[in-house]
Order: sequence, then structure tokens, then C-alpha cells
Amino acid sequence: MPLITSISGIRGTIGGNGADGLTPVAIARFASAFGTWVLKNSKSKKKRVVIGRDARISGEMVRGIVVSSLNALGIDVIDLGLSTTPTVEMAVTDLKADGGIIITASHNPKEWNALKLLNRNGEFISEKDGTEVLQIAKQESFSFAPVHHLGSYKRDNSFIQKHIKKILALPLVDVKAIRWKKFKAVIDCVNSTGGIAVPLLLQSLGIKQITKLYSIPDGNFPHNPEPLPENLKVLAKEVRKRKADIGIAVDPDVDRLALVCEDGSMFGEEYTLVAVADYVLGKEKGAAVSNLSSTRALRDVAEKHGQKYFASAVGEVNVVRMMKEKKAVIGGEGNGGVIYPKLHYGRDALVGIALFLSHLAISGKKSSELRKTYPDYFMSKKKIALTDGIDIDKILRAMRERYSKFEINTSDGLRIDFSDGWIHLRKSNTEPIVRVYSESSSKKNADELAEKIISEIISMVNI
Ligand code: MG
Repeated sequence: MPLITSISGIRGTIGGNGADGLTPVAIARFASAFGTWVLKNSKSKKKRVVIGRDARISGEMVRGIVVSSLNALGIDVIDLGLSTTPTVEMAVTDLKADGGIIITASHNPKEWNALKLLNRNGEFISEKDGTEVLQIAKQESFSFAPVHHLGSYKRDNSFIQKHIKKILALPLVDVKAIRWKKFKAVIDCVNSTGGIAVPLLLQSLGIKQITKLYSIPDGNFPHNPEPLPENLKVLAKEVRKRKADIGIAVDPDVDRLALVCEDGSMFGEEYTLVAVADYVLGKEKGAAVSNLSSTRALRDVAEKHGQKYFASAVGEVNVVRMMKEKKAVIGGEGNGGVIYPKLHYGRDALVGIALFLSHLAISGKKSSELRKTYPDYFMSKKKIALTDGIDIDKILRAMRERYSKFEINTSDGLRIDFSDGWIHLRKSNTEPIVRVYSESSSKKNADELAEKIISEIISMVNI
């Protein structure tokens, strides 16, 4: 597989002949480019970068190259070791560091790894900064430090505990209510660092009965690590068998959260944020934000509380930018990514768990009953392969014209809102495809809407 470079980092598969993939050479070049960008853009006297990794098998190998590259530039490294993406984000600001690198390919299978880049606010770097890092990497315009000015290395394993402590201190996290409910939980952490953080968090919330599935952080993912229903069958079965109140699944770097109800049904990844937003908006006044490909149920919930909803372009960096602009009190992405700005501006499965369980405890409902309080929407996710010579921008403009009497959003591709659903057409940044996401009141309607739009596009280009 090729190495995929983008403004938010690089990712690729391990192994190969050196021409492609995430090779040691590519890792060194990219880590050096990020370090050079830090040296250029930070005003602090002695530059520091925080790093951490998920538990994937290649993590230790990648870590060594990243540390050496940064040290060679004269940058001090604080290594959190096995950690989570949100924990590294928070450590960057806690330590007043100049940036951060998370070594994780998120929900991708174990062959993959990646470097995710953070600015000094512990947030993903902007498009402008990412472009600059890519440029430095391409030109290899590095200036390594002389021997007496090499960077230092320090290990700090305390940040998962600090992260949990900050979650417990949030006024909306109701430890008393959770403890009183004596919840039984089953967790699936795909043998990554959720296996460290999630049991610690649940114990701190007063949950004593925890069944741990795949919670040894050795990187041997027992199934595809994306927390989608088809990958959570064992968890669902175990929840029923143990008569548990909730099943909890996180992805390898613990920024996505999916829940399973007590009857083994999926709470649904899209509905993690919906439920948490319902809880937060019931207690705090302010807007909710998610990306254009997320469920309409969040808008419904925001309106129920008399609050505004805004949709951003896809990508965490875009969601965060809009949340700041609209002073949102809750936001995130439909794929189980909860962003609660009172803690920090990053998707965080741990704060998601604490807020969800507070909501569940206070509601007095079973998890399946709580799920039923939200409007049912169904999504369809399809794609159109692009061949040479197709001007997709022109097609999107024509579609916009055709549907001009409906609510249109062109901030990221084309989204058209109908009374009973929506469609979002978006050109992929990494593959020659257009993603076609739709949502409606039934799966059949969502599929039909997507197929109708796809056939209209195909007839336009005569392919
Ligand atoms: Mg992730």
C-alpha cells in the first residue's frame, strides 16, 4: 500500500520494498519535517514535543525513529508511552509543550500506522500548517543540531491518571449517580490502550463489575478495530450473557466510542454524540456542532433544548474551528467522536463514557429505553468511482443548480437537505472517489435517495 500524506499527518502500512508504505525513511523524514516546523514556529527557548502511541505492534519501532529524529533537531521529547489520542492532546497544553505527535493509525487494521500532528494547543494542525510540514518534508530542508545541543528524552506515564482526574472534576460528571446505579459494564478495547484507560475510568466512576474483553494492550487486534456494529458482535453477545447494563467499545487510540444496549442491540455510533449532547444541552446553554456527514438527530436534540445546531466540513479540525466560532458547548463527529470543550477541543471517548453514564444513571432508564427517546434515522454510505476526464466539481455545480429550491450547503462538497432526509456528496482526499452519504427515516429510503442521486450523476457524465 502507498504512503498517504495529508495535511493532518502521514499513514501507511508497515513492510515493503522501500518505495512505498510507512518505512523508517518516511517516518524519519516526516518527524524531522514536523520538528523543523516546530523550531520555526515556536517562540519558546527550549522546544518540547509530547509523544504517545496506541498499542499497535509497530508502535515501538515507529516511536524510536520519531524520538531520535526530534532529538537530532535539538527538541526535547516527553514520551507518554502507551496512551490515548485525547490524553496526548491534553498533555501538550498541561506541559506547555510546542506540539505533539500521536503514533496511531486510529481505527485502521494492525498493518497500518501513522503520525498525527498536534500544535501547541494540543489540537490537530491546520491546513496551512500541514501544507508547510509537507513542503519541508518534500525539500528535506532540515538543520540538525550540533552534538552538544541534541534534545533530551523523558518518560512520563502519569497522564492517563491526570486525564481521568480532570474528567471526574467536571461538574456534569455525576459520580454519585453512577455509583448508586451499580452498573455492570462489558468493555472491548481491541487490545489497545483503551485496555489501560477505560477500566481505570470506570473504577473511578464507582463501577465495580467490569467484564474486560480484549483489554491487553499488545496490539493484537482480535477483529477489525473500527467500532462498527459488524465488529462488535462478541461484545453484544457478552453484554446479554452477563446481563450487563452497557457495552463499551473504543477504537485503538480511544477517540471514538460506540455503545451496546443491555439487550445486545447497538446504541449506534451516530447516537453516542446525540445522547451526550442531549445530556449536556439539558444542563448548559449553547450550540451543538457536528460535521455535514453526521446524523440529523443532533439537530433535533439541539432544537428540543431550544439551542442552535451548526454543521461543519468533515474533519476534526473543521469541527473544532466551528465549535469555537459558534461557542458550542458540545460537538463532535457522528462516528462516535465526542468533543466537550470544557475538557479540551478533541474527540475523547473517555469523557464521552463519563458523560453518557451520568446521563444514563440520572435518566433512570435502561440503555435501550434511552436510545428509543431519540428520533430514528438511518444512513446509507456509498461511493462513485471517478475515472479520468470526469470534472466532478462541474457535476456538483450542476446538481446544486438542479436542487436549488432545497436547503443547500457547499462548505464541503454538496449537501442537500430535504424534508425527510439529506444527501452529502464529497470528493475523497485520498482516493479517486466521491462519497455519497444519505440519511432518511428508513434504511430503504436512505438507500433509494443515494441511488437516485448516483444515477443522476452517472447520466450526467454518461459513464
Ligand atoms: Mg481514532
